[in-house]
Amino acid sequence: MKNPIYVTQPAMPPLEEFTQYLEKIWGNKILTNNGPFHQQFEKELADYLGVKYVSLFSNGTLALITALQALKVTGEVITTPFSFVATAHSLWWNGIKPVFVDIEPYFCNLDAEKIEAAITPQTTAIMPVHVYGNICEVDKIQKIADAYGLKLIYDAAHAFGVKVDGNSILNFGDLSVLSFHATKVFNTIEGGAIVSHDEKTKTRIDFLKNFGYDGELRVVAPGINAKMNEVQAAYGLLQLKYVDRAISNRQRISDLYKELLHNIKGLAFQNDQIDVIHNHAYFPVFIDEQLFGMSRDGLNEFMKSNGVFGRRYFYPLISQFPTYKGLSSSNPANLPVAELAAKKVFCLPIYADLDLDDVKRICTLIKSAGK
Ligand SMILES: *Cc1c(COP(=O)(O)O)cnc(C)c1O
Repeated sequence: MKNPIYVTQPAMPPLEEFTQYLEKIWGNKILTNNGPFHQQFEKELADYLGVKYVSLFSNGTLALITALQALKVTGEVITTPFSFVATAHSLWWNGIKPVFVDIEPYFCNLDAEKIEAAITPQTTAIMPVHVYGNICEVDKIQKIADAYGLKLIYDAAHAFGVKVDGNSILNFGDLSVLSFHATKVFNTIEGGAIVSHDEKTKTRIDFLKNFGYDGELRVVAPGINAKMNEVQAAYGLLQLKYVDRAISNRQRISDLYKELLHNIKGLAFQNDQIDVIHNHAYFPVFIDEQLFGMSRDGLNEFMKSNGVFGRRYFYPLISQFPTYKGLSSSNPANLPVAELAAKKVFCLPIYADLDLDDVKRICTLIKSAGK
């Protein structure tokens, strides 16, 4: 059997370049607490992304939790069950009740048409996810948030570098939260960030991630420790030099998948959104068991036995985990589109260093599975 291929593999910068950054850290002995690399990375990242303010975090989940704290979100929050479990966990850790709303069937994002019906007097915010880096219906969702006086926080963990009509998707809503986990398009090993649009909010977020400290002696809130350290920030600065190349490699892989998989009965994939610069974070395919001749789980097992390890993102739905299963909005009858997508979806390997010959081999395997 050939070398196994996993759904992702982290992009890493050249080690000899990283050691130069490490030498600086060993020289100045500044390891954390808003050091020089942290400050430089926040600035360069904001420039790269085309956003006003970035607050760096030790990971995306703490950034989500802190974003909710920063806007004092309470009560109920409308969100999607079709995401990584951290989306809902960030609500739970704030004592907020997630209210799951169904997704739309093509891009698998929160269905804007179904949000209003889920709003109650306890609703204070909406937390949608740009799933797979496909953008949500941001204008429609903003209109609902404005009409009902709700905060809008995007879980943008998949949306690094995504733009619509030349504008960063991170500029929509009140806040957007990024993850720089090893498995994401852009990684700082672990890491994350909150994107905000005004200095006051940025300052408040920065207090909250550092125990609530405003200066040396004043603590203005029950903050947490969610700071990014200097080693991560240095690594991130270096990663920024290589991320465009990583995304264009991903584009090439995505294009080849589309070319080789376009006429397979019972296998569907998502075409790119119009006027969107995509990051090709994932390559999900959707398996119709009847037409394809094999179930999604059957395909997963078949691929595994041939050394190809895809992932069923997002199965099971968040609403099916024990913490959330008892909520009335978790009833499968409330979430038919998400339930179906979770049964059909299979994410194929995609990462910057994936060989195009391996993509061809994966496609040949898929074709032989359907027969
Ligand atoms: C990865 C991810 C997170 C969590 O980010 P971490 O940096 O791993 O804590 C949150 N939401 C979504 C949608 C994710 O994919």
